[in-house]
Amino acid sequence: MADVHSKEVRSYNMSRIKGKNTKPEIVVRKFLFSNGIRYKLHDKTLPGKPDMVFPKYKKVIFVHGCFWHGHENCKYFVVPKTRTEWWLDKINGNKKKDAENVEALKKQGWDVKTIWECELKPKNKEKKLQSILKEFKKQKSLENV
Ligand SMILES: [Zn+2]
Repeated sequence: MADVHSKEVRSYNMSRIKGKNTKPEIVVRKFLFSNGIRYKLHDKTLPGKPDMVFPKYKKVIFVHGCFWHGHENCKYFVVPKTRTEWWLDKINGNKKKDAENVEALKKQGWDVKTIWECELKPKNKEKKLQSILKEFKKQKSLENV
C-alpha cells in the first residue's frame, strides 16, 4: 500500500497514539520545573483535563499534537488519504471539544495556553520554551508589586 506520509510524519503520528505523558509534554514540564515553576498534572476536575495546571498563576497549558488536534497550516497535520472521512470526523471532533474546553476554562477565570507539538521541534524548541517562561516571570513580578 502506498503511504502518503513521509517517514518522519508517520513516526510522528504514531507517537501521538500513546496519549498522555507524551514526549513534547515532558519537555515542557521538565523545562518549567527546572525553572522553579510548579504545576499539577491532568487535573480531572477541570474541563478537558489540562496537561499542566498552575494554580498560583491561574493558568493551564495544553500540549497538543498537530495531527490529532488538527493544527491548521501545519505540515504535521496531513489527513491520511485512506479513510479520510473517518479521520476528519475524529479530528474535527477533537477540535470542537478543544474549543469547548478552552471556553469553559476561560469562563472559570483560567488563562489557557495551547502549545503545539511542532513548536517543540528541535528547531523551535528553545525559543518557544523561553517565551513561555517569560510569561510566567512577568506574572510573578506583577504579583510581587
Ligand atoms: Zn503544528
